[in-house]
Amino acid sequence: MTKRNEPRTNWTKEEVSSIYHQPLLELVFQAATVHRQWHDASSIQVSTLLSVKTGGCPEDCSYCGQAARYHTDIKVQALLPTETVLSHARQAKDAGAQRFCMAAAWREVRDNRDFDRILEMVKGVNEMGLQVCCTLGMLTEEQAQRLREAGLYAYNHNLDTSSEYYEAIISTRQFDQRMNTLDNVRKAGLSVCSGGIIGLGETDEDRISLLLTLATLPEHPESVPVNALVRVKGTPLEAQPKVSVWEMVRMIATARIIMPASMVRLSAGRIEMTEAEQAWCFMAGANSIFTGERKTLLVTPNPAISEDMEMFMRLGLNAAVAQTKTSCEQAV
Ligand code: SF4
Repeated sequence: MTKRNEPRTNWTKEEVSSIYHQPLLELVFQAATVHRQWHDASSIQVSTLLSVKTGGCPEDCSYCGQAARYHTDIKVQALLPTETVLSHARQAKDAGAQRFCMAAAWREVRDNRDFDRILEMVKGVNEMGLQVCCTLGMLTEEQAQRLREAGLYAYNHNLDTSSEYYEAIISTRQFDQRMNTLDNVRKAGLSVCSGGIIGLGETDEDRISLLLTLATLPEHPESVPVNALVRVKGTPLEAQPKVSVWEMVRMIATARIIMPASMVRLSAGRIEMTEAEQAWCFMAGANSIFTGERKTLLVTPNPAISEDMEMFMRLGLNAAVAQTKTSCEQAV
């Protein structure tokens, strides 16, 4: 594992496009090479995600079953009691997770009792020795600072898709508001987790544009989740075609090459992949997964953690040991 240079943040659209459009096997070979220069390629970070407040969201993200305006089967659930969340975190730790992420279906964080309870949860999970991550919607710099003081390690805020395609997917907020939250998270000194979703009807150009935005931030996100759309019945995107593994591999490999130090996370959509397809994603440079004891990733199906550990054994992979430093580079 030889780390060469600092990651570049001055990529051009032409450069990213020419990496992305290479013949697939050549792209995977390059990504696998870069992966080995920056990371231990046998090591996969395992994160567990728990929805601490589900459904009833006022936003209109077209892919999301938690938006109140769509008629989906998802049951609305108010913010879970702190003890329940801490008990899930303990179980996740015992099952081998290094990072515990808590998600709330909010448009934005508000300075109220619910936020105080989230701060208590963060403190409690941090004290267990797990890296704590939250995804709570938009937040101010001051709120990000309070989360950090409570022990938060990382904040997830996906860009979802390209700035050009954003309006076709979400009308209740703007792309720039996403960028602003990322900036607030960074200013508070938190680790940034930000990626996107493919399969929303976007073009290759949109995928390239999304990757370019992430790779030209002043600092790359330490974690870059790459999600495949999970088609939720009742949402406007329920009839989208299934994302092929090769589209995921192309996206992951490009992300790996242009953001070499980041953890590239194979996220939603894994349930629809075979083990061989997931192995391709690891070969292309994915080195992090979401898993869960409840077999759900937020509100969509996901493999259980024990199944993932068996897959790791068959593929000769290890669950990475997390370190509570401020950079994911050091967590591999
Ligand atoms: S993705 Fe998040 S913000 Fe959008 S509708 Fe779902 S819960 Fe709300």
